[in-house]
Amino acid sequence: AGTLMAGKRGLIMGVANNRSIAWGIAKAVVAQGAEVALTYQGDALKKRVQPLAAELGTNVVLPCDVTDKASVDALFAELERTWGRLDFLVHAIAFSDKNELDGRYVDTSEENFTQTMLVSCYSLTALARRAEKLMTDGGSIITLTYYGAEKVMPHYNVMGVAKAALEASVRYLAADLGKNNIRVNAISAGPIKTLAASGIADFRYILRWNEYNSPLRRTVTLDDVGGSGVYLLSDLSKGVTGEVHHVDAGYHVQGMKNEDAPDI
Ligand code: NAD
Repeated sequence: AGTLMAGKRGLIMGVANNRSIAWGIAKAVVAQGAEVALTYQGDALKKRVQPLAAELGTNVVLPCDVTDKASVDALFAELERTWGRLDFLVHAIAFSDKNELDGRYVDTSEENFTQTMLVSCYSLTALARRAEKLMTDGGSIITLTYYGAEKVMPHYNVMGVAKAALEASVRYLAADLGKNNIRVNAISAGPIKTLAASGIADFRYILRWNEYNSPLRRTVTLDDVGGSGVYLLSDLSKGVTGEVHHVDAGYHVQGMKNEDAPDI
C-alpha cells in the first residue's frame, strides 16, 4: 500500500465483474489511498458490483446507464451531495452489437454505428462536462482505448472507428479542460479477456498473437493497467494531458512478427 492518491476521490465507471479493466484500476488506486465511487449498469450487475465495492471499502455504489441522460444527471447530483468535489474519473465503458464484431466493417448498420458511438465515444464527453463542475481543484480523467483505433484489427470493425473518435475526443477535451487543470488521457490497453472482449470473434487468437509478437512476449494484466492508471490519475503525471498511453507490452511498436514467434 502507498499514499500516491491519498485524499483523492474518484468515480470509476465500467466495473461489471472482477475481470473488468475498471476493477484493476479501482484496486490499484484504492491501494494508493484513493476513495472511490463505483457505478453499475442496470440491476443485473448491481449484485456483482456491490460486493466488489465492499472489498474496496466504499459504499458509494450508484446506478448509471450512459444512454439514459436522467440516470447520468442523477449520478452527478448524488455525487455532488455526498462528496461535493471530484478529483478523478475513470471511463471504462464500451458497447457494440456483437454480431457486428465479426465479418466485415463495411456491413455495419446505421443503428449499431450510432449506438456504438453513443455508448463508447460520446459518453466520455457527456461525463467530462458534468465532472468538470465538480473538479474544482483540478482533476484527471482517463478512458480506455485499443490499438484497433490506429490500425485495422480483425473483427474490431465499428469499435475501431469509435475508438478513433474517442482518442480524438481525448485531445479536444484536454484542450477545453486544461485551463482548469483538468487533464484528460487514454490508456490503450493490449487485449485482456473480459466480458466485453468475449464479444469479439476469435479473441483467443488475438491474445495468442499479442503474446508471441509483443516485445515483452506476454499479454498485459489488470495489474499492469492498474499501475498505469495510478500514474495517470495521480499527480505523478501532472504535466501530461491529451495523451494516448499504450499499456500493451509494447505491441504497437512492432512492425512485423517476432522472429521467434511460433505458428498459431
Ligand atoms: P467489461 O465488460 O468488464 O466492461 C465494459 C463495461 O461497459 C461494463 O461494466 C458495462 O456495464 C459498461 N457499459 C456498457 N454499456 C454501458 C452503458 N450503456 N452505460 C453504462 N455502462 C455501460 O470489459 P472491459 O474489457 O473491462 O472494458 C472496459 C473498457 O476497456 C472498454 O472501453 C473497452 O473497449 C476497453 N478496452 C478493452 C480491452 C480488452 O481487451 N478487454 C482492450 C483495450 C480497451
